[in-house]
Amino acid sequence: MKLKLTRRDFLKTSAISLAVAGGLLKYARGDIVRKAEEVQKKEQESGYKLVKTICTGCAVGCGMLAVVKDDQWLWIEPWINNPINRGKLCCKGASANYIVHSPRRLKYPMIKRNGKWEKISWDEALEIIAKKLYEVRQKYGPDAVFFAGSAKVSTEMAYLQRKFMAFWGSNNIDHQARICHSTTVAGLGNTWGYGAMTNNFNDIRNAKCIIFFSNPSEAHPVSFYHIYEAKKRGAILICCDPRFSRTAAVSDLHLQFRPGTDIALVYGICHEIIKNGWYDEEFIRQRTYGFEYFKEEVMKEDYSPENVEKITGVPAEKIRRAAYILAHNKPATVQYAMGATQHPYGSQNIRSFAILQLLLGNAGKPGGGVNAFRGHDNVQGATDMCVLSHSLPAYYGLSEAAWKHWCKVWNVDYEWIKSRFSSEEMMQKKGFTMSRFAVGATAEKYGWKLDQPSPIKVIIWWGHSTASIGDLKLVKEAFESVELLVVVDPFVETAAALPDRPDGIIILPACTEYEGEGFVTNSGRQIQWRNRVVSPRFDSREDMWILLKLVEKLDKYDPGLYAKFTANFGGKKPEEIRPEEVWDKEITVGSITIGMLGQKSWRIKRQQEYDYTFSEEDCRAYGGPCDGEYWGLPWPCWNEKHPGTPILYRNDIPVWDGGHDFRVKWGTKAPDGQSLLSGVNPQDQLSINGVKWVFAIGETFEDYIKNNMVPSGRGRARFYAWNMKDPVPKHREPLYSPRLDLIEKYPIYEDEKYGDFHYRVKIKARSWQIAWLNAKMTEVFPLIWTSGRQVEHMGGGAETRSNPILAELQPHMYVEINPKTANERGIKDGDMVAVISPRSLEYDDTPAYIIVRARVTPAVPEWLVFTPYHWAGQFQGKPYLDRFPVTDDMDTRPIVYGDSCNIVNPPGWDPETQMQATKSGICNVVRADKLQEFLSQYKSKIEQLKAELRKMKVME
Ligand code: SF4
Repeated sequence: MKLKLTRRDFLKTSAISLAVAGGLLKYARGDIVRKAEEVQKKEQESGYKLVKTICTGCAVGCGMLAVVKDDQWLWIEPWINNPINRGKLCCKGASANYIVHSPRRLKYPMIKRNGKWEKISWDEALEIIAKKLYEVRQKYGPDAVFFAGSAKVSTEMAYLQRKFMAFWGSNNIDHQARICHSTTVAGLGNTWGYGAMTNNFNDIRNAKCIIFFSNPSEAHPVSFYHIYEAKKRGAILICCDPRFSRTAAVSDLHLQFRPGTDIALVYGICHEIIKNGWYDEEFIRQRTYGFEYFKEEVMKEDYSPENVEKITGVPAEKIRRAAYILAHNKPATVQYAMGATQHPYGSQNIRSFAILQLLLGNAGKPGGGVNAFRGHDNVQGATDMCVLSHSLPAYYGLSEAAWKHWCKVWNVDYEWIKSRFSSEEMMQKKGFTMSRFAVGATAEKYGWKLDQPSPIKVIIWWGHSTASIGDLKLVKEAFESVELLVVVDPFVETAAALPDRPDGIIILPACTEYEGEGFVTNSGRQIQWRNRVVSPRFDSREDMWILLKLVEKLDKYDPGLYAKFTANFGGKKPEEIRPEEVWDKEITVGSITIGMLGQKSWRIKRQQEYDYTFSEEDCRAYGGPCDGEYWGLPWPCWNEKHPGTPILYRNDIPVWDGGHDFRVKWGTKAPDGQSLLSGVNPQDQLSINGVKWVFAIGETFEDYIKNNMVPSGRGRARFYAWNMKDPVPKHREPLYSPRLDLIEKYPIYEDEKYGDFHYRVKIKARSWQIAWLNAKMTEVFPLIWTSGRQVEHMGGGAETRSNPILAELQPHMYVEINPKTANERGIKDGDMVAVISPRSLEYDDTPAYIIVRARVTPAVPEWLVFTPYHWAGQFQGKPYLDRFPVTDDMDTRPIVYGDSCNIVNPPGWDPETQMQATKSGICNVVRADKLQEFLSQYKSKIEQLKAELRKMKVME
């Protein structure tokens, strides 16, 4: 698409330019309040529009102003009044319009037949999908379908994805949150009640110390605006990262620990804090439960700084220094991302962070808390809607009571919904996850056992990346095994091109989120309304339209389905149903557990209009119609007068003013008889009206708030979580640990901890680890592999690798390798190398590998290599660009491509959530031309591992 005006032309000629440029200068001085009506008037006169929209690049949720004329997005101006980013953007945000205008967009629906991609109409595509779904349902039952939902779509669309599978009659639905922060939800939720970021990005400026377990300067760039503000105000930065990252470069202390040893490191710090009496006794006594159990574990000699040094590699002296800094610079905040979550004990990693904050009394305080920085722009919204195989929206779970609650919200009969499932048992059984759905689709081929009547026969892949999933070899096979694969995305997502099959794939062009509209929740639980910037390009459609149209099509085979699915929307057609209706009539009615009742659409939109009244210090409105509200009405927002809760568990301010407390979620008494009610202001959540508050549709909680009572009660945070596999976190070695000497002392979970089946598949973690130990493979794979983000790319990279600006800024997939390690292997900077791991030997003959460029850098220590995970388009060194559709008027091949690193991830799954292990693997690196030599040299060792894996029957 050619843009006729340059920015300079625009500024010279347009009437609005004066308003924009003048306005920005004045905003920069911070002394102007510009009325929305004036702006609108100028826009109407000039034909140019400034559209407030939200970046889709990550979960910081930066606002931007899109400059639009004649339905064309011309460029981006800073949205100075958005309190989250005050106009700042990283390269992903600043080039957002190039995603919409990308020359690599998918323009129309396509079907693969006889090895060729063919253009088809929407009607035909949806008809084929509906018919196949019906046939599969008739033949195999509803559980033969797996639905990969999305953290990239709006919250109401995510909600509709979950609702769709409920009405379809299966819990086989999951999305990115499973493999990014499911362990955050389990870890934080089991400690103090809610499984989300406790504070928000802006609040970090109030911290006196920040301890990072991630690399926000590259992964969440604009968050660093607030981190720098904290640093300017004197905060001390401690960076825990195996790499010398850009965050480490500006930190005061760098703890370079071995991946997968987070708990040992945190415990070393806690050990030192307790030993010196630096913990907050009063806080622990009044607001927590189970300190004595934790103390018994953490004060073991295993966690003395000297022993922790032996496990983590961090010098004891540095551990002591970190403990001293944290104890003497309060409040401190803990910040982390996927480097901490993606482990087979990720839930316990995250618990250890929360426990550190309980120990220091830093929970429920400005500048404190545990700040999980989530990935995709709406992963918090999609998580809240539970596009997850173990729960209905708003974390209700799958119990009969939960189903009855949501049936009431949906205005459908519970018995009818029950009849949609193959049985009541299946209705309450957790479905497949993103981590192991591939086992469900390939089980027939390998003879693996499943906990459902049939294998997966249809996969719907909607706004999900493939490259971020581990064991990619099996994922490829899964895509090749099913009868139909449906991929919905603005670009041709890897799922449509990776499988080597001649037919059975349909791809549907969803428009980008900038061409639609809806609600989006950032990592700090702040909800923003994303306006439509331009109308959908080409023959793409909005996600909601596609889903509702599919339900309408299914109605032909499944009479009455559409009417039931849209019962609350008065018989409207798919194109007539508004996002706000879904939001106000269902989501904010049923999502009581997390207090979404007050987050009505009109309030969120009003905040956008009066954005200039919000402070960046505390995200609060001062004056105007939103006076007293917090930006984004972060949940819990108990009713339409409530301002939102920007900082969870803060008991020093009234509930009506955003106060809160630890939830009463596990009863009022622990199994040992100790009270679980707060020692400051004890309150059981059932104490007013006697209602079961989580199911109280229509409740406004006014009585609670008037009496300064929290609807979720005033309870205690738990050091000891008796319902978890490890009630108190303890160090465990990764399944394929590089430290064979530590495996027996710190083993992975016993097989029994996963039950007979875990989310419908077998998991035999300990057997697997024993096979690894017996095979003694560390000579073959002596290096540790980890992965992370590049500033320029996002998720699986389908969008960003097809954005011409970002592709130019970061065109390469690579592996970072230390100069000494590279020299020992004859590798020079820029050489093509093979990164090989023992993955997939459990079912395949050859180990998994990737072929990538070597980036020789001292940023990684000698024992570590690092790869970014946004890449695809090449499989084990072979490009598969010829499998992307190319027609006369469309070329969907990504501009830049590379091998997907998660093919080499190690086995290992968190027993609470089935989180995959994609941060602490083992590997070797050789020059690409030496790969075959390497495989021959170690043939007998590889055979030995295969034999051990089969002996231990790790896959059944
Ligand atoms: S990618 Fe994240 S940090 Fe960058 S502009 Fe977008 S929301 Fe902000």
